[in-house]
Amino acid sequence: MKKEFSRRTFIKSLGLGVAGLAAIRSPAAIGSLAARSEAIDVMIIGSGFGGAVTALRLAELGIHTVMLERGRRWPVTREQNTFSSLQDPDGRSAWLSDVALLGEAKPIDKYIGVLELVLGNGIASLAGAGVGGGSLVYAGALYQPSRALFKSIFADSVDYHEMDAIYYPRVRSVIDPQPIPFDILARPEYAAARKWWQLGRNAGLRTKLIELGVSWHAVWEELQGIRKPSVIAGEFWYGNNSGAKRSLDRNYLRHAERHGHLEILTQQNVSAIRKGPDGRYLVLVDEIDTDGAVLARRQYVVKKLFMAAGSLGTSRLLVKAKAKNDLPELNDAVGKYWGNNGDFFSSLSGFGRHIKPNLGGPVPVAIEDPFNSLLPTTVECYADWSLEGETGTISSVGMSVPPPKGRFIYDKTTDDVVLNWPGNDPDIQRVTQAGEATYHRLANAWGLTDRVSPVRPGHCLTHAPVTASVTAHPLGGVVLGRATDNIGRVRNHRGLYVVDGALIPGHTGCTNPALTIAALAERNVERIINRDF
Ligand SMILES: Cc1cc2nc3c(=O)[nH]c(=O)nc-3n(C[C@H](O)[C@H](O)[C@H](O)COP(=O)(O)OP(=O)(O)OC[C@H]3O[C@@H](n4cnc5c(N)ncnc54)[C@H](O)[C@@H]3O)c2cc1C
Repeated sequence: MKKEFSRRTFIKSLGLGVAGLAAIRSPAAIGSLAARSEAIDVMIIGSGFGGAVTALRLAELGIHTVMLERGRRWPVTREQNTFSSLQDPDGRSAWLSDVALLGEAKPIDKYIGVLELVLGNGIASLAGAGVGGGSLVYAGALYQPSRALFKSIFADSVDYHEMDAIYYPRVRSVIDPQPIPFDILARPEYAAARKWWQLGRNAGLRTKLIELGVSWHAVWEELQGIRKPSVIAGEFWYGNNSGAKRSLDRNYLRHAERHGHLEILTQQNVSAIRKGPDGRYLVLVDEIDTDGAVLARRQYVVKKLFMAAGSLGTSRLLVKAKAKNDLPELNDAVGKYWGNNGDFFSSLSGFGRHIKPNLGGPVPVAIEDPFNSLLPTTVECYADWSLEGETGTISSVGMSVPPPKGRFIYDKTTDDVVLNWPGNDPDIQRVTQAGEATYHRLANAWGLTDRVSPVRPGHCLTHAPVTASVTAHPLGGVVLGRATDNIGRVRNHRGLYVVDGALIPGHTGCTNPALTIAALAERNVERIINRDF
């Protein structure tokens, strides 16, 4: 395995001319490379939260593991220029798109950038791509749901007491998230966050500082002009150039690689999973160039396969495998029970000129409205880069507890899987109404009744269908206890596991989901290792 990978790297480092590249990309050339097949004991597909937790726990036990990731590595450079900026996007910002995804649809070069947009019916979803997955683009919010709301996700099938005592702290011990320190909160750049705090308190709602996976020391250096303004300037959706973000490549994955048993292969886009010989799995992979062109096709024969390609990636691969009879024993729950975490967006205005909505990131303060008469909600203020130059407005993202009515369906004509979200369903519309009720409560308590902008299920995307709602928190599709057993082992498939957000039915109880995804992976992988290895 190692040998072959370094051979390819060596060939690349020789530098192929344009003609050479064209030759290797031609279908004939790909065909001639297609038959190569390798046996692997343990493989993980995807390097986000679920994949990174799994990788570390396997590596600690000396279990050699190969991780396939479709994107590239994104090391933060001394020059602080690793990522594209939001204001001036280039190909690094988006996964194989020729227009920028956020804000104006500016043309960009097609590249294997960090943020993917997946358009479905009635929903547009965002997800991370690259080593570290969603942690490359996330706002760093590591938010634990309350006991009551956790029960609304898993009922009693996952013990909250155990999660609270063991697995949430285990994730924190690796990423070390911290709430914003008061000396930073007191800075002029964080005026909107302070106001958000006061708003919540005034309205009689629970208001808290969110634990964030950022280095506040680095943020302090941004404020001092020692590092590039990045977190403080609302840069996080395309990555943080200052190095403040504690993405997984800098903790879980780094620790796993240091153990010496994890091999991460980048630019490996898994296209299919099939039943292989002797109860093993065939994993079909396109090795891609930085513009997405296929350089080679590979096939792995795998004994134990962990799916960690995220809710969208894992669900799409397994729904396709079932529809095409590649894994015909997958049960009927595969592809179902998906939700958008109840994401909605709005803003409040009328706060005066000292409030600069584009400053003071990422998402320092949350207001919880658990007793909202429609549905519980949480609303978090965030630094909104798109409002540069404006004053007096605070942008926020909200979350709730939507019913998991989304479904992935295989389309034979396009040979693709499409996500369907019935946005007009009255149960789903209640989320928007609940969001409106929370915002009006906040505005009324501050005497700003007319200053609530309409609550939108989504924004930021200029070229997505206007009816689509947008989520940065896709969840579900291969749900725990339905498509898998209670620890993520896929039913009827020995040695096939799901360890990512696909396990969670639709929401994480009015919180950002990454902490719960990681903690659930800690719980499940511990049990899987004990029982199956
Ligand atoms: C802009 C943005 C901001 C966010 N902010 C927050 C936040 O502040 N807090 C929070 O809790 N959550 C946040 N999220 C959500 C969070 O990032 C996700 O919930 C989380 O990353 C999901 O973890 P996962 O393990 O399920 O999958 P992911 O982290 O999505 O990882 C999946 C990995 O699999 C790879 N992959 C996918 N398909 C394939 C394939 N076919 N072959 C090979 N590799 C593949 C992907 O490239 C990716 O690296 C945010 C998301 C976005 C998009």
